[in-house]
Order: sequence, then C-alpha cells, then structure tokens
Amino acid sequence: MAQRPIPVLSVTSEIFPLVKTGGLADVAGALPGALADEGVAVTTLVPGYPAVLAALGGARPVLAIADLFGGPARLLRGTASGLDLLALDCPHLYARDGNPYLGPDGRDWPDNALRFAALSAIAASVGRGAVKGYQPKLVHAHDWQAGLTAAYLHHGGPKPPPSVFTVHNLAFQGQFPASLLPVLGLPASGFRFDGFEHHGAIGYLKAGLQLASHVTTVSPTYADEIRTEAGGMGFDGLLRYRGTTMSGILNGIDTTVWNPETDPLIAARFSVAAPAGRKACKAALQQRFGLATDRKTLLFGVVSRLSWQKGLDLLADVLDDVLALGAQLVLLGAGEPALEQRFRQAAASHPGQIGVQIGYDEALAHQIQAGVDALIVPSRFEPCGLTQLCALRYGSVPVVSRVGGLADTVEDGITGVVFDELTADGLRGAVARTAALFATPRRFAALGSAGMGRDVSWRSPARQYADLYRALIATH
Ligand code: ADP
Repeated sequence: MAQRPIPVLSVTSEIFPLVKTGGLADVAGALPGALADEGVAVTTLVPGYPAVLAALGGARPVLAIADLFGGPARLLRGTASGLDLLALDCPHLYARDGNPYLGPDGRDWPDNALRFAALSAIAASVGRGAVKGYQPKLVHAHDWQAGLTAAYLHHGGPKPPPSVFTVHNLAFQGQFPASLLPVLGLPASGFRFDGFEHHGAIGYLKAGLQLASHVTTVSPTYADEIRTEAGGMGFDGLLRYRGTTMSGILNGIDTTVWNPETDPLIAARFSVAAPAGRKACKAALQQRFGLATDRKTLLFGVVSRLSWQKGLDLLADVLDDVLALGAQLVLLGAGEPALEQRFRQAAASHPGQIGVQIGYDEALAHQIQAGVDALIVPSRFEPCGLTQLCALRYGSVPVVSRVGGLADTVEDGITGVVFDELTADGLRGAVARTAALFATPRRFAALGSAGMGRDVSWRSPARQYADLYRALIATH
C-alpha cells in the first residue's frame, strides 16, 4: 500500500516565481515539486507580500492573530504556481512592493528584525499545530530570515517537531539588538552563546545553526569550507561542534523552467542531439547587444549579482585580456554601484565587443545561458551556485573558481574550466585556457555536450532531503 506523504512545513522569505532575489527563491520554489516524487508533501510559509497575495488562488483564512508585533495578521492557505502555500497576510509588515528586504532607498527596511521574527514565530506556531487539520511532521527553515524558527520552536514548550535549517549563504547573518528581546517574545534565558545570542546581539542565523535538529548547507564542499576558520565567518567552531548533525546537500535547478528543448524565452530550441538552435541563440544574443554577429568569435557571459562574493571585480580587471583574445562579453547583473559603473563604462568604451545590461531580467538570463559559449563564475566563495548548473544544462561551458558548489559541479577539462588561484591572474589564465579550447571546435563542443549530459535536476537532492527528513522523524 502506498504510504501517505509526509507533511513538511517549509519556511522561506522568497520563493520563485513569486518573489526572488537569488538562489534561495529558486530552491524554495523547486524543491516542493521534487519532494512530492519522494513522498513528501511540502507546504510553504511565506510572507504575504503583495506579489504573493495577488497570485494566491483559492485562498482561505486558517488562522487569525490579533496582534503580531504591532498589528493584526492572518494566515491564508492557497496555491500559486503549483505550490501549496501558507501566506502570512500581515499588512503592517509585508504590504510593500519590490525587493523583499530593501526599501526604496536601497537600504534594509528598518523593521526587518520584526518582519522576519514574525515569519519565524508563526512558523513555530504552525509547527506546533496552530492550524486546525494541519500538523507538519517536520519544519524546514531557510536562511537567517527564518532562523528564529528554531528558537521559537525550542522555547515554545515541550516536544517541538524536528527541524532542519538550511543555510544558503553564511555571509547573511541577520543580527539585531538585544534590546528587542522582550518585543520578540523570546526568553532572556535563551540569550546565551549556546542559544540565539551572537556577539552580544540576537543572531537569527545563529539561532538556526545552533538550535535546529539538523543543519544543512547547499553543497558538500561549502559544508567543509564553513567548518574552517577561513570560511566559517565566525561560525566554524559551532559548525564543527555540530558534527554529523550538519551536512551538505547540493542544489539542483528546475529542469522544466530551464529546458533548452522547450524554453519559450530563447531564440531557438536545441538539445545535444539537435544542437543547431544554439547557433541561432548566439546570433540573437550578439545582435541584442550590438556585437559583431560572428559564430567564430568566443562569446563569454555573466549572469550574477555584482558583489565582492562573486569576484566580478577580477573580471573587470582582466577585460583587456579578454578583448586581446578577440573574445566578446555580455554581462547581466545588478548590485554594488561601483561594479555596475565599471561594467557600464567598459561597454561604452568597447561597443561591439562588450554588452552590459544592469538590472534583473529573467528572460535575458535564459538567453545568455543559451547563447554564450562560456559562462564566467569567478566567485570568492560560492555556497552552491545555480548559474553554472543552468550553464551546464544549456551547453555553455562554465569557467569557475574551485570553491564551494562550483568545485562540486564542474569538472575541469570535462564539463568546464576550473581555476584555483582566486586572483586576476588566476582568472586571466582560465580565460586563456578557455580560448585555447575554443580554438579546437570539436573539443570545445565536447565540453558543452558533456555538461548537457549531467543531471542537474532536483531528483537526487530531493531524495537526500527526503531521507534526512525520514531519519529525523524516526529518531525524534
Ligand atoms: P546567489 O543566490 O548568490 O545570487 P546563485 O547562483 O545561487 O547566486 O543564484 C542566482 C540566481 O539568480 C540564478 O537563478 C541566476 O540566474 C539568477 N540571477 C542572478 N542575477 C540575475 C540577473 N541580474 N537577472 C536575472 N537573473 C539573475
């Protein structure tokens, strides 16, 4: 007899396709579908931002909260884009358009401490059965915005359900003044080094890392790196202490959204067996950016947040070398103003060779993955990285630094180019190696085909999450 699916509550501050600033949204949006195939029924709790409430179909109220940190709130259960959602409709905290974390001035909303404590507090209530007829067997919270979930579960009474906390990027830690403790309804007794205290502040990420039943991160290599002083960003001691209750599970990508055989956003469809469409995609991309439409010119691409983490200052440093190789570059990204400015200027100085679009553009991201010969990802650290997975799927050759998930997903000389030295020289060498490979078209095509043959779907990761959930529930 088929077993009934295991109900799991996922808690996240962003979810594709409703609200996205980065990889977290992709993971939160794709994992439920993949877990369904593994016998896990995921319901996702998300803040009721306008974009979420507008998309929610069949919504019905399942919980009312008279006062959630200064105003009323209610939980709506409904579906959107095939996802089973609990939306926390709480206008005084979430009725704001645009980026979920930043106000119109580009700075963090001043009440982010409350906005994400609210999400976590409600997650813990739901975990403890506050919604009639819905009792999750496990709560899976993501990143600092949901980090206090483990604290609210821990301090909310005896026998909380087991919890998993996934850290997608240790650099975002969510620290807030200790003076907020009474407002947040967390006990002073938990404000200690082995609780949710972090260097005298309330640590949202710390709470998740310390108090969840199990911690995961998004690649095995990143899991190793963050247990070292060099990569631990102050948490390496705690993460080493967790021993086997912390592990790395690689991300996948949604291979229905990212499918070159059916993608409606790209100029032509293609596959390993029928690769011709790729040429049309390259020509269309070159045209869009006003670059010389030449099939034989090596076209590099970047799709990225523009931040120190992503190492794109190194790329800016070696642009002359890229051009000296006779190559072209298209870049789509947004982030640090100084980097945006450098790339804008580079495009203005080298029309026909460098094309830059500053901003966020989902369709163009697909077009770049489908049209470039090689995608550059020179990250200084990279928990998993999704863009190189998209590149593999679309037959563009990833050129990556050997860190975190990049090291776990790209094989040097087989599916891509991997370099060790995280400097301009290191990247310069990798770019030159890529150009040398490109000069032998059959060899270069073999890299792309090998990449397209790799399984970058959620199938294997979802199985690992499901196995973890089952083990935690069984031993709870
Ligand atoms: P991170 O989450 O650190 O930003 P990831 O590689 O894990 O990096 O995930 C980034 C996701 O966001 C990918 O799906 C990528 O295609 C997408 N992305 C990043 N920047 C842009 C952009 N400017 N426009 C469109 N998509 C972008």
